Amino acid sequence: MPPTSLSAPTVKVSPRGAVRLKSGHVWVYRSDIVSADGVDPGSMVRVIDHRGKPVGTALYSSSSQIAIRMISSEPVTDFLALLRHRIGEAIAYRERIVHNTDAYRVIFSEGDFLPGLIADRYNDILSLQIVTQAMDAEPVRAAILSELTDRLHPASIFERVDPRVRELETLPARASGLLRGDKTATTVSMNGIQFRYDALEGQKTGSFLDQRENYFAAAHYAHGEALDVFCYQGGFALHVAPRCSQITGVDSSRPALEIADQNAALNQAKLGGKEIEWIEANAFDLLKDYSSSNRHYDTVILDPPAFAKSKRDLDAALRGYKELNLRALKMLRPGGILVTCSCSYHISQVDFLEMLASAAMDAHRTLRLLEVRGQSQDHPVLLNVPETAYLKCVIANVSE
Ligand code: SAH
Repeated sequence: MPPTSLSAPTVKVSPRGAVRLKSGHVWVYRSDIVSADGVDPGSMVRVIDHRGKPVGTALYSSSSQIAIRMISSEPVTDFLALLRHRIGEAIAYRERIVHNTDAYRVIFSEGDFLPGLIADRYNDILSLQIVTQAMDAEPVRAAILSELTDRLHPASIFERVDPRVRELETLPARASGLLRGDKTATTVSMNGIQFRYDALEGQKTGSFLDQRENYFAAAHYAHGEALDVFCYQGGFALHVAPRCSQITGVDSSRPALEIADQNAALNQAKLGGKEIEWIEANAFDLLKDYSSSNRHYDTVILDPPAFAKSKRDLDAALRGYKELNLRALKMLRPGGILVTCSCSYHISQVDFLEMLASAAMDAHRTLRLLEVRGQSQDHPVLLNVPETAYLKCVIANVSE
């Protein structure tokens, strides 16, 4: 039954599943599904607890470990009408909280009560990710496209496909590509800094919108000689550059550094003739070399990729973060600024701060916390759904 259906089929959840929903979470795992007889993949379903009491309405996946994602604690008769309404709400929310940029996340899945749908705006290009069976159904896709087009009038809409996600959802393979219009590249502006955006290249949805507010915050404290490690296309480096005397960006990806260099050229006026040095290197090797050869900096930024892809990787990931942070701390001059991030949601803010405290002890440095930050507000965190909070960004002052 498609998710547009008027009378939804029923899924019964176990007592543990019901408790989870009672606590405000929106997922029930497959192991907590008691029955989902005759429910088609991607259907909208009525959810009942083990006693038969209705607990709300959800979208069902026949293959994901997350079997149901709640969309309402009430009965829903017309999913497409609800979808359109929620898209409008998500856009209105951004109008209130997003400032000084034309690049931001318009829809953040569960964070906007639209599980399985992500939409990013890059100036006049919209980038979509559809990651569940329910959101992939044809009538749903059509409603998403028409609502986004009517409200935002993008020059084009590009779909970014993660083949692994489609496999997990047992959805037919699909290539990334344009769904509307023909524009694939544009220039975006955040906090007064320009960046190139090209839908056909790049990681994730293209650039790291979740760090937008952290770029701005980092720029407030940065000074002197700065090192941006894992710099990608230069998000932090370009933001801190106007306040620093010398800036070096390090990444292992040459294509990312080439775009970083183009971005620097776009912002020449702001940089006042300052050159940013881009180094293609493995960050672990480079930090080891630099810290043992007594190089010193006033600002070090660490924004590595997610080291913990699952709970099992937690210890190894924390060792990786500690090594990086320890080396950065050893290189920082007194009064220096450390900006250190983790985008692994398996690592909690508490784990991350403990790791940092232990690195500070080993490096014989004292850290004063200036800011403990998360993802930009256009990536809303649902307090009762811890999985929606994944990014940590700590800004600290280093003394001896
Ligand atoms: N700070 C960036 C985002 C960093 S994403 C921004 O705000 O836009 C992580 C980056 O780490 C990617 O660009 C990836 O190419 C790079 N990377 C991954 N492993 C690396 C390694 N071992 N050494 C250096 N860079 C690495």
